[in-house]
Parts: sequence; C-alpha cells; structure tokens
Amino acid sequence: MIYLDAAATTPVRREALEAMWPYLTGDFGNASSHHELGERARTALEAARADVARVLGCRAGEVTFTSGGTEADNLAVKGIALARRAADPRRTRVTVSAVEHPAVLESARSLARLHGFAVDVVPVDSAGRVTPETFAGAIGPETAVASIMYANNEVGTVQPIAELAEIARAARVPFHTDAVQAAGALPLDVRELGVDSLSISGHKVGAPKGVGALYVAGRVSVEPLVDGGGQERGLRSGTENVAGAVALATALRLAEQERATTAPRLAALRSDFVGRVLELVPDALLTGDAENRLPGSASFCFPRVSGESVLLELERRGIVCSSGSACAAGSSDPSHVLLALGLDAETAQTAVRLTLPTTITDGELAESALALAGAYAAVVGIART
Ligand code: PLP
Repeated sequence: MIYLDAAATTPVRREALEAMWPYLTGDFGNASSHHELGERARTALEAARADVARVLGCRAGEVTFTSGGTEADNLAVKGIALARRAADPRRTRVTVSAVEHPAVLESARSLARLHGFAVDVVPVDSAGRVTPETFAGAIGPETAVASIMYANNEVGTVQPIAELAEIARAARVPFHTDAVQAAGALPLDVRELGVDSLSISGHKVGAPKGVGALYVAGRVSVEPLVDGGGQERGLRSGTENVAGAVALATALRLAEQERATTAPRLAALRSDFVGRVLELVPDALLTGDAENRLPGSASFCFPRVSGESVLLELERRGIVCSSGSACAAGSSDPSHVLLALGLDAETAQTAVRLTLPTTITDGELAESALALAGAYAAVVGIART
C-alpha cells in the first residue's frame, strides 16, 4: 500500500514512542501528585513544554497542552473572544476565513449561537489565499479575535500569516492561527510570525492522536473552556497527558530539525508528481495555490467524475488518499473550501487530495501518478457505459 494521506494523520515515530513509553509504565505518576512518581511526571511534562516552546520561539509558560488541534483551536477562538469581550463589551465580533478547518469555523458559529457574537467570514481568492486587503476590511474595533489558518488541510494553500498578523496588531485585534498542517513543513516561530496564538496537533507530526498544544502570548487573556482542578495554569483542567506531551515534544522537535531537508525534498517530489498527473490526465485541475502551498500537498479536481469513485479505484490499485479532509469524509456535501475557491458544487464533488508522508519516494510517486491516471480512466469508462 502507498499511503498518500499524511494530512489526515501520520504514524507515530519510533523516537516519540520510546520517549513516551516510561510515562505509560514505570513513571506513570500524576503530574499533580506530590510524591516521587508525581515529581517525575511533572519534570517530564515541563521538559516537554520547554521543548515545544523552543520550537515555537516562545516562553514555556505560554504553551498549553490540549487533547489535539481541535481543542487548541476551540480554546483559542472561544477563549480569547470571551475574555476580550469581558474586558471590552464592544468586542462582539469574530473574524475567520472561509477556508478554516471546522475546529475554527464551528467555534466561531458556537460563539454566535450561544454567546451572541457576530461572525465575519473573510473570502479567499481562487487559489485559496486571504489577501491582506480583504483581511484588513474584515476586522475592526469590534473584533474580539481573528483566526486565519497557516496552511489549508484540503488544498495546501499557505496564507501570508506574518502580513495578516501585522494588520491585526495594528488594529489591536488578537490574532490566532491554526498551524496544525504547517507544523513540520513551515517555520513556526511565533515571534517572527507575529501571532498572538497558534495551535498544533501531535498526530500530524509523528506523535499519537489525542495530544496537541496551544501557544497564547502571555499578554493575551483566555477564558478557559474546561473547568476543574486548574491544571495547565487554569487554562485547561484535567489530569495531564504526560506521555502524550512527551511524544508531541519529541516528534515536533525532530520534525523541526529535519524540516530544512524534508520540506524542499517533498516540494520537489510533489512538483514532479503534479506535473506527471497533469500530463497523464489533461482534464485534471490542480486546486489551491500553485506556488504558496504545503510541500507535500497535491490536490486535484477531475471534472465530471466523482472523487469518491476515483478513490475507490485508486485503493484497488494500492494507493490510499482522500477526497477532501478526513473530517468531512463520508459527507456528501461539497467541500466548503472548494466552494470558497469559487468552484461549482459539481466540480467540488470531484476532489482528490494526495498528501505525501516524509518517507515517500520518487518511485512510489511515479507509480501513484500512473495509478491515478488508470483510476481516472476506469471511472470515466464506467461513467460512459
Ligand atoms: N486544524 C487543521 C487544519 C487540521 O487539518 C486538523 C486535523 O485534520 C485539525 C485542526 C484538528 O486536529 P485534531 O485532529 O488534532 O483534532
């Protein structure tokens, strides 16, 4: 099997598994316990926090461990909006882009539904980019938080985050970015990006599912969403997932160390792959930004055929990928991301997303391009008969 669905999830890397093992077995203590086992767990948790902070270029106290990217996005969007409005009652609006992951979009909708916020949705251009001008027009003195993703999970488009964050800062609007897909592929230094808040998820970078982290600048207030024993400086109650945090820190640190070699290698392989697919299937349409895209992301529409049918044919040929985001898999609705790019609903149903793991080889991609062409021909043949 050739796995081309790295944006959905990645396998746990051996180093992460080995690093977490002691905290699942011998050193299994609760980080809040005052005996020796608790102390060891606490020490490991704080070392993991410091490791994550080093990658993000922030202070350890600005990192909160969560159950994943979804929770980190919820905490940022809802937590910052609620705290900001509590401090300044005029701040009753939230701004998000039209192509955000549901973790952000639904957080904004929940703020509207349950807390009376208004949501401003920033449109994107046909490449999936939020332009600085449209963003500037979508924030103002009533905005409690703005959230624009670093890189899109369906079409791979990378946003000009530093530029957008600068605009938000000038307007005194707290700026969050969902960097779940960017981690391991793009620079994550929060000071260079100029963001107030940034979320990451373990299982996209070689740590297990169910752990993530949120950076929030010390100067920004956040209303906690989970109440309880006051762990994570009161921001996220619940007994800490020490093993998960250790695995996340290990995988993130290694992904960051390797980024200088993996990112250009993947980008070159991806470009060749896209070229091969477009040559073999001239009808295929590359979606997302041809230049500003994640190194390992190739996404297409195959007009007039169902993306799901192409996927089934591809799987029969030993290639696994997805039609859009894993979260939307199984849904028959066209992707909100592709609609936001201006594609019609019919074309949006023909999407196939191939996202490359760092271990992929040129040979595997050559095979995959041929398989994709074969799968497409099979579906077109079926459609004609
Ligand atoms: N944000 C983006 C851009 C994602 O791609 C994902 C996962 O697919 C998430 C958030 C959610 O992360 P998690 O699966 O850790 O909850």
